[in-house]
Amino acid sequence: LYEKDKALGGQLKSAATPDFKSQLRELVEWYKRQLELLNIEVHLNSEINEDNPVLKDADYIIVATGAVPIMPEISGIENAVDIISAHIYPEKLKGDRIVYCGGGLSACDSALETAQKGKKTVIIEMLEHIAANDHFINRAALFPLLSKYGVEIYTNHTVSEIKKDGVKAINIDGKEVFITADTVVSSFGMKPYNETAKKIDEKYHLKTRIIGDCEKIRKVGGAVREGFYAALTLD
Ligand SMILES: Cc1cc2nc3c(=O)[nH]c(=O)nc-3n(C[C@H](O)[C@H](O)[C@H](O)COP(=O)(O)OP(=O)(O)OC[C@H]3O[C@@H](n4cnc5c(N)ncnc54)[C@H](O)[C@@H]3O)c2cc1C
Repeated sequence: LYEKDKALGGQLKSAATPDFKSQLRELVEWYKRQLELLNIEVHLNSEINEDNPVLKDADYIIVATGAVPIMPEISGIENAVDIISAHIYPEKLKGDRIVYCGGGLSACDSALETAQKGKKTVIIEMLEHIAANDHFINRAALFPLLSKYGVEIYTNHTVSEIKKDGVKAINIDGKEVFITADTVVSSFGMKPYNETAKKIDEKYHLKTRIIGDCEKIRKVGGAVREGFYAALTLD
């Protein structure tokens, strides 16, 4: 197993920062222990590309390079902190009013975690609902907590510009509003990180399988299941 970072866990290192996600943190520790028990060779700080000789010698290659945050070409996006950094480096969330652009599950989680630490958080979402694509059980658990911790929510608002002191958004009536912020977080979702995966697949097509978020953005359950199926197909 080759991991380019200094630790295992991938996106779970950021996904599992809130207290209410302690079970995801435990999952990473569980995997580390299983890898140890099974004597699996783990190489950290080891970024693999298509020219690495280990790939030539391998009987099978399973590529799971994951995903990276979407940073759309909105004016001022460079003023925003991306959602992964918002989770891992809370010190980047400067000031008392933190505005999240995009209201998917990861933004809701981070906004809640930050509000629980005493900051005012705001979510701007262009759809009619936040966490719109998530399971109703997640939503049922999340919504009362967002309300309890005073997270301000603007649905039907499309972010049009990010400034150092806030966000311009267009509401459902086409009117521009300005929402002030000390820090803006870009939480527009994730996209597959698959450049290397495609090159490896091109070079070693017959023995390569691409799984997890690198193939298509999904959740932990889907990524794990796909890894399991990939392993089942090995001779
Ligand atoms: C903020 C946030 C919150 C989330 N919350 C939840 C949640 O509550 N529940 C849920 O089910 N899902 C959640 N998810 C989604 C979940 O984390 C992902 O679906 C899952 O981690 C995908 O697993 P993966 O192994 O495919 O990719 P990743 O977890 O992205 O792992 C990919 C790994 O590959 C490494 N890598 C990349 N390129 C190379 C290379 N060339 N060589 C070597 N290593 C490389 C990366 O460093 C990384 O460690 C969340 C995601 C985010 C970002």
